[in-house]
Amino acid sequence: MQPFVVIKFGGTSVSGLPQWESIATVIRSRLDEGVKPVVVHSAIRGVTDRLQAIADDETPDAEAALAEIADLHRALAVELGLGPTPDLDAELERLARAVRARHDATGPSAARTAEILACGERLTSAVGVPWLQAQGFDVTRVDATELLHSRPRAQAGATALDRERDYLSALCDSEADEAVRARLAEAGEVVVTQGFTARHPDGSTVVLGRGGSDTAAAYLAGKLDARRLEVWSDVPGMFTADPRRIPSARLIHRLDYAEAQEITTTGSRVLHPRCIPALRSRRIPIHLHSTLHPHLRGTEVLPATERGHAHLKAISRKDDVVLITMETLGMWQEVGFLARAFQVVAEAGLSIDLVSTSETSVTASLDASANLLDSALLAEVVDRLSAFCRVEVIASCSAISLVGRNVRGLLHRLGPALEIFEEHRIHMVSLASSDLNLTFVVDEEQADRVVERLHAILLIEAARTEPDGPFGPPWTRIRAGILEPEEQRERWWHRRRDELIAIAAEKGGAFVYDLDTVASQMRKLLAVEPVSRVMYAMKANAHPDILRTVRATGGGFECVSPGEIERLEEVFDDLRADEIIFTPNFAPRADYAFALDRGIPLTLDALHPLQQWPDLFAGREVLLRVDPGWGSGHHEKVVTGGRHSKFGIPHFEIDEARALVERIGARVIGLHTHSGSGILDPDHWTRVGERLAELAEAFPEVRIVNVGGGFGVPDREGLPPLPLEALGDGLTELRARHPHLELWVEPGRFVVSEAGVLLGRITQIKGKKGLRYVGLTVGMNSLIRPALYGAYHQIVNLTRLGEPPEGPVQVVGPICESGDRLGTDRPFPESREGDVVLIANAGAYGRVMSSEYNLRAPAEEVVLGA
Ligand SMILES: *Cc1c(COP(=O)(O)O)cnc(C)c1O
Repeated sequence: MQPFVVIKFGGTSVSGLPQWESIATVIRSRLDEGVKPVVVHSAIRGVTDRLQAIADDETPDAEAALAEIADLHRALAVELGLGPTPDLDAELERLARAVRARHDATGPSAARTAEILACGERLTSAVGVPWLQAQGFDVTRVDATELLHSRPRAQAGATALDRERDYLSALCDSEADEAVRARLAEAGEVVVTQGFTARHPDGSTVVLGRGGSDTAAAYLAGKLDARRLEVWSDVPGMFTADPRRIPSARLIHRLDYAEAQEITTTGSRVLHPRCIPALRSRRIPIHLHSTLHPHLRGTEVLPATERGHAHLKAISRKDDVVLITMETLGMWQEVGFLARAFQVVAEAGLSIDLVSTSETSVTASLDASANLLDSALLAEVVDRLSAFCRVEVIASCSAISLVGRNVRGLLHRLGPALEIFEEHRIHMVSLASSDLNLTFVVDEEQADRVVERLHAILLIEAARTEPDGPFGPPWTRIRAGILEPEEQRERWWHRRRDELIAIAAEKGGAFVYDLDTVASQMRKLLAVEPVSRVMYAMKANAHPDILRTVRATGGGFECVSPGEIERLEEVFDDLRADEIIFTPNFAPRADYAFALDRGIPLTLDALHPLQQWPDLFAGREVLLRVDPGWGSGHHEKVVTGGRHSKFGIPHFEIDEARALVERIGARVIGLHTHSGSGILDPDHWTRVGERLAELAEAFPEVRIVNVGGGFGVPDREGLPPLPLEALGDGLTELRARHPHLELWVEPGRFVVSEAGVLLGRITQIKGKKGLRYVGLTVGMNSLIRPALYGAYHQIVNLTRLGEPPEGPVQVVGPICESGDRLGTDRPFPESREGDVVLIANAGAYGRVMSSEYNLRAPAEEVVLGA
């Protein structure tokens, strides 16, 4: 049977043509994946609220409210370009009947309310399904009441409240259900059904309560034993904190079920907490996505991997918390005190969230929003408790929870974040016995500050120090729309998968290069208007075919050693000296002489050559590499005065350099700075250029400003590429301010990183659940970047591309060194010995840094044919 994927679309995702177009795109790509999409959708945003108001007789004129709902759906039908809509007319008629019948005395009134509420989703189906059919999909509309059957709470002895909830907040089973699977297998290629709705054993329609579309989709995914559940809404997933309050909050790409459950129950509303148990036992992954950023990788909820150390994922916050402290003398001697106290709370229909106890007191928190707590009810509870203990109530509190595995391990780092509590009280601290959440209850007015500080101290740090960690881009970037469809952008290696598999089968392991990508990256930089020259930093990858491709596009070369110059001479027999710029660092005198003999322009990055070897440079043109002393700001002299870095002439030696040059009779024709790598901030080079242009005022002969390399490429899925237009705009303004200066750049990584992949084959697999290792034929002797810099490389099982991940694995090589690890905690499909694994972005600083360590030959290089 074809595997099912259940895809849920929320209220904002079904309300207009652009949204339905996104739905069609998602359906299309799932069909391409070879799975059967089962679409579960909500009512159009706002409709359920209106239906609720009608059912509760809270609208002055039910007929007028109905007409409004009808108009809303007819307008959608017009927007979608539909002609007559008989299904919609029939559903509107059914709704009108249910509304007229709301005061009838037949059956429970909750059932009549449910019948009205359930109409919202049906109305949406009635418009959406014909539109999808018009797009050419073979769609079967299945009523959710045929698929989901509710399970009434305690049959005997159920309270009136329970019976009402059986209609308005019904529970269903999510056990695999062969009948439902068979029913949908026979349906058309796409199934559409409504969320929120199910059938009561008495035959009436019930609804699943607020957030019930998520739960319906989860139940259905369970029944279908689906490959995964996708939840599409207007947010891309779960964040490290509430992004509306903490804009630097980062998207979390991966969570395990327990962590996700903790986050949903401690504040986030992205996913209904009831969804998770339905899927957890059968290890069905949940993927969260945003219809506003459909290509952004959202949050994946997967089975856990056991890891020892503390792993904070998020800080969540719940407001409107009320604390009740009950104090009695010698409490532990008083048998049944807790039971008595809790009985009072339960009888008031309230539920307790957190509890902490000491010998003489118990503090319990009540979540007011969930508890429908009002002051009269609270007064009554206090009154009854006061009969046997002293009671203190603290209202308007916030519960702030640190969520993640082994949060206990973070305790020692909390100090600085909690400093503000020298003046303000922490009312309660509670560490869950699962060690998944550590909660502080504080006054609501302190909560913003506490969350902000905890987030800054714990999470921003975690995201920075864990390049392999689960964190995605910050909300500020997502909101600004700087995220391009990076992740699902088709990579060349998707297209050429078969060739790659054949290469790996033959060679065992190989670096494979795609020259079209090299050429297109070069052209992107050459197209940045104000840039006059693009000098490829060939230390990133010196393969002859890559050098030829770079030159064919019009690029020059930046070399750092005589060996690189010789490589160019081997590859090209007509290369001119001015196609090269030589930038050695701490190199011997002979290296400078080597370049000068050939007339190759060079960049000096220290005073030593000028001081000690003046004869070499007499009458020559040189560039000076300067260390602009970043980060020094206003206190430049104080902070960095006298500090040398390995690279560049520090700004406090510039005057001395100028004097030396004049004395020797050399001419400074350019200034240069290369400061860092993998930079994705488009303003960086403009800042560098502006600084160099300022310094250039002291050098009348300077005509070149070389702003170096460092142009980043997104190394992880979902990160946006460097916005070259913004870069161009900044440089254009720079150029306008300094029209006499030429701008040069020296990209390395940008040109070749994405053009290369490293292929390996699986050698061995170790471990089952928890810590699993997947061994490859290639390791750190081929690609040392993960071990050397903690660099992140996307890793995929090419043989099983698109198969669902089983759980995180550690990807390791065959080198006897514990640092021989290419990826940590990567989602990976079930794999076998011999599978071909691809490590992306391996074109830069890959093979050039490889070694024979362990006397194992590194992967060899293969260039793909056109
Ligand atoms: C390495 C290097 C570059 C290229 O750096 P990327 O980060 O690969 O762009 C440019 N200029 C100099 C002087 C370098 O040493």
